[in-house]
Parts: sequence; C-alpha cells; structure tokens
Amino acid sequence: VDLIIKNAKIFVQDRVIESCLAINDGKIVAIGVESKMPRSDSVLKGNGKLVIPGLIDVHVHFRDPGFTHKEDFKTGTAAAAAGGVTTIIDEPNNIPPTYDITALKEKMKIAEKKAVIDYSFSYGLNTNNLDDIEQVHSMGISSFDIFTGGFSDQLSIKNPGIILEALSKVKEIGAITCLTCGDSMLNNYTTEKMKNKGRRDINAYSEASLTVSEGLGVARNLLLANSISSKLHLRQITNRNALNVLKKLKNNNKVTSEVSPFYLFLNTKNIEKLGPFGKVGPSIKPKKEMEATWFAFVNGEIDIIATDHAPHTREEKEQGKEDIWKAPPGLPCIESMLPLLLTQVNKGRIGIKRIIEATSELPAKIFGLYPKKGTIQIGSDADLTLVDLNAKGIIEGKSSHSKIDWTPFEGFRFLGRPVTTLVRGVKVFDDFDIIGSPGYGKFVPSMNIR
Ligand SMILES: [Zn+2]
Repeated sequence: VDLIIKNAKIFVQDRVIESCLAINDGKIVAIGVESKMPRSDSVLKGNGKLVIPGLIDVHVHFRDPGFTHKEDFKTGTAAAAAGGVTTIIDEPNNIPPTYDITALKEKMKIAEKKAVIDYSFSYGLNTNNLDDIEQVHSMGISSFDIFTGGFSDQLSIKNPGIILEALSKVKEIGAITCLTCGDSMLNNYTTEKMKNKGRRDINAYSEASLTVSEGLGVARNLLLANSISSKLHLRQITNRNALNVLKKLKNNNKVTSEVSPFYLFLNTKNIEKLGPFGKVGPSIKPKKEMEATWFAFVNGEIDIIATDHAPHTREEKEQGKEDIWKAPPGLPCIESMLPLLLTQVNKGRIGIKRIIEATSELPAKIFGLYPKKGTIQIGSDADLTLVDLNAKGIIEGKSSHSKIDWTPFEGFRFLGRPVTTLVRGVKVFDDFDIIGSPGYGKFVPSMNIR
C-alpha cells in the first residue's frame, strides 16, 4: 500500500485506540495492529500522536474571486491545512457573487488551480435565482446560503415568503438551506440610533447588536422551516436569547446550528482592546453570553463549529480606528480554531470526542459528505490530522499562512496543535510548513442529504 501510519492513537468509532492505519489510493484500507498491516515502503511514525479525522470547515470566505488582496484559494487552503482542516465549503459573497451558474463555474475553475485541500461551495440565494437550485445541486453542491440582512438585496432575501419558497425548493432536491439569524430591520434601527448619537467606538457596535435580534431571527427561520418540515442549518448562534428560542422551537432533528470560535473565546472585554480588529457580524458578546454559548456548544445544543474565516487587510480594518462603522466586519480564524479547542481539551472543559463530532463528523453528515469525509473508517478518504496534545505555543498573526498577518487571538497561549495534515493520504502540512501543492485539492461533490 502507499502509506502506513504506525504507533499512533487513532480515533476510531467513538474511541481512541493505539493502532496502525494503512492508506492506498487515497483511501483508508486497514486499521489494526502492526502485524496485520499490509506491506508498504512508506511509513509515517505517529510517535504516540493523536490521529483525528481532518476538520471540515463548512463556513469560510476565501475572497476569491474579487478580493484576492485579502485571501485567495491558495493561501486560504494553505492556512486551512495548517489548521488541520482537510475540506472547506466556501461562501458566495465574492465579486462576481456566486449567485449565478456562470459565477459558480468561474469559481470552480479558480479553486481547481489553487486549492491545497479539498473543497466545495455554498450557492447564494436571492429573490431572482431560486430556479437555479436544481442545476446547482446537479453539479454536486448541497449547501445553499440565505443571508437575511447586512447585505444588499442582490446578496440576501428579506421577504419571509421567498425564504419559505427557497426552503421548499431546497427540501425537494434533498439539500440544505443555511440561514443567518438576526433581524435586519431591528439591526438597522439600533445602528442608526447609535450613529445619530455620535457614537463611533467598538462598544457602540456591540450595543447596537441586540441579542433579541438574533432570537427574532432564529424564531423566524425555525417557524418557516417547521411549517414545511424542511431541513435548516442556522449560522452563528451567539447568545442566550437565540439559544432559548432554539431550544423551544426545535421540534425535530431537521434543524442544526453552528457557532464560530469568536463567540466561544472572545467577549466584549477583548474587543475593547481589539477595536476594529474585533468587529465581526454578529458582534462579540459579553462574557455571560460567551459562557452560555460555550456550554451550549459543549453539550451539543449547538451542533457544530465552523470558522467563518473572513480576512480583511490591516489597512481596511484600521479605517475603523476613529470610526468603527468604517471597518468591514469579519475576522480570520482558520489556523487558530483547532489549537484553541485542543487547549480546552487539555483543561478538561470539553472532550476530544465532542471536538471531533463538532468539527468533522457532523459537518460531513449535515452537508452530505459522509462517510467519504468526516470519519476514520475503511473506505473513507484518508483525510487525517495528526495532533500533538503537548505542543505549547502562542498564537501569532505573523506566523500565519493566510494573506493576513493579524489575528484576534494574538498572544493567546495554546496547548495542543495539529502537526501533520493529510488529504487523501498525501501530506499537505507538516510541522510548520505547507508541502501540498496548489491544484492538489479536489472538488468534493456531495450526496443527497434527505
Ligand atoms: Zn460568514
């Protein structure tokens, strides 16, 4: 076979076993004791490191095409590989926006040349393109995003009637609709009031973002989905108001939800220091909300974690130093998510099993990539992340593989990090270096989700 990983702690079927793993043609072909392994000229010594399924990040903004001064498919997927991520799903707010088939095909060509890891795309829905859903799905894409506010009409749907129509069409073909929460009318109202008071500080941005706005959005989205019994994936849950509504209205297993690391590891005290470098939509919440969101994540009320990696240049963010409204929202995170989570594993605040479920297994299941991706079992792609739980360090923007050299987690200490990342059995990241070549990454068509 092509490669054998020896002397590793491998996460198989819900538990960690001391074992070996054989890979051939990019797939896992054997798991077990050394004496039962097939022969191979190539051996990767695990040295007791933990082997987990590669992370699947279902929410990234790689900015390509349109904003390649911030990130592109090469640097974005390189940073992903360094973060232990082996598959990403890229969001549609590009120039041109991925809201028509031509733009989608163009983006596919770009990714094909540049990606270091595997990838798929989310197609954006607006009031004019619901007829595309079937064709997009036939191209192997199962993720459809609806932004409900904060974007132009071309990039969002605000009318609940049209959202309902979209949910129904996506349900028919067996795909998944992802909705942002938050009530755009309420957000606009509170933002305007804050601006009229002359407030331009980062706290004003936080104060304008009421938790009830997210609760309203979750309620609207859930009631719409429940009314036709459709699947629904809720983006970015960040506070107790949203969590309470989610708990009360989630009456079946067709609804899943997501959080990003910003809402688990940063609170309003952090962003007072970060200023525009802490501006993200939805806003970072006070400590109490952060803690409640963390517990909801640990106990599975929030199903998965995705990075919402959304880089902007230093110069773009600095525009918000005197006037926070001038800074674009969005933060980079794809390289720091796993070290942040593993640190919590070491502190005993969350189990490794839950981390794997939330970063790999459930994302693969929700987005139709399972069991090709998201699990260590025979026949699955050998997308593997080797983790050193004893590796210590400090998160620093300057050592990032992204185009951006800053991070909202600057100076955070971590204990535990990915040391080697394999995509379909080939090393793409090792130690601190990207060794995968652009163009190696492949588009992953999804299966029906029904
Ligand atoms: Zn996003």
